[in-house]
Amino acid sequence: MRTVLILAEIKDDKLRNVTFECVAAAQKIADGGKIIAAVFGENRSSHSAILGYYGADQVYVVPHHLLNMYTPDAYTQAFVQVIETIDPDVIFMGHTSIGKDLAPRVAARLGLGLVSDSIDVALEDGEIIFTRPIYAGKAFQKKKIQEGRVFATIRPNNIGVGEMDTGRPVEQKNVTLDIQDLRTMIKDVVRKTTSGVDLAEAKVIVSGGRGVKSAEGFAVLQELANVLGAAVGASRGACDAGYCDYSLQIGQTGKVVTPDLYIACGISGAIQHLAGMSNSKVIVAINKDPEAPIFQVADYGIVGDLFEVVPLLTEEFEKALV
Ligand code: FAD
Repeated sequence: MRTVLILAEIKDDKLRNVTFECVAAAQKIADGGKIIAAVFGENRSSHSAILGYYGADQVYVVPHHLLNMYTPDAYTQAFVQVIETIDPDVIFMGHTSIGKDLAPRVAARLGLGLVSDSIDVALEDGEIIFTRPIYAGKAFQKKKIQEGRVFATIRPNNIGVGEMDTGRPVEQKNVTLDIQDLRTMIKDVVRKTTSGVDLAEAKVIVSGGRGVKSAEGFAVLQELANVLGAAVGASRGACDAGYCDYSLQIGQTGKVVTPDLYIACGISGAIQHLAGMSNSKVIVAINKDPEAPIFQVADYGIVGDLFEVVPLLTEEFEKALV
């Protein structure tokens, strides 16, 4: 029996999908033990019930005003204190921008090993085995922590979310923590305009490369994305050329994504781009060069001019989805 602690992530007042994936991962390995979620920030206790529906047994809410928004030092202090209070056998959180920043800090504070960026977790002969991609997604490594507490981050969109049971009760505890000596304070958040769909957790991504040729060219991709409820992504080629913001970049030095459907438009398929999207469940490539390397990883390839093909797809999906 293992006690598993999950750090819930909240964005725009909603629990991120990866939090439910962490609960699903916990259910795989808890072996009859307790699943506890920690929720940081004021006015967030309404999230406890939904965490319970997905499988959390207990929710620790820390309603501190310094935890309303992520800062590395406040969250590190809070998470370390929660871990010391609960004393879990296993800790999970999302491999998100917060997870990538926070997990190594907390692991270092507590002298723990960290299995980062896991895409699966399983019990084998009673031991927890993690699967994680290596060599930019070309190979997969099986990993276990030999002894002591297990700490891992879970890559979004891989483990999946478990069944919801609205009849499942959850126990909520409010916890008061002492947070002090902060070196960073958030005064204001200025958001860039986005399509509203979170790239890291999107189920469908329409992505553009240098072949899109201009910032205006991305409007054609955005129209298809709107019809599909998709997020828009980009290659570094497109970002470097100034066609779109670097926050859209997918690849080795950008975001790593695993959508159900990835539509690559005017992207050649350089190894650094593939590192961020080759684990997508279905890949569609649109490129006018039949020799483009993207076709080697694509499930469906369309050789043609994206400015002809993408509007046709938009039109057909519009008809099909009404
Ligand atoms: P190109 O390679 O120029 O390809 C454009 C494609 O568009 C071509 O295949 C062309 O046939 C096609 N095309 C042109 N016009 C049309 C049209 N009208 N219709 C259809 N197709 C058309 N890249 C990333 O993407 N992400 C990363 O994270 C990343 N990290 C990197 C890190 C390092 C250390 C280095 C060295 C490079 C990195 N790169 C990364 C860059 C990478 O090597 C490539 O240069 C980049 O991915 C190329 O972008 P692209 O495919 O959009 O452009």
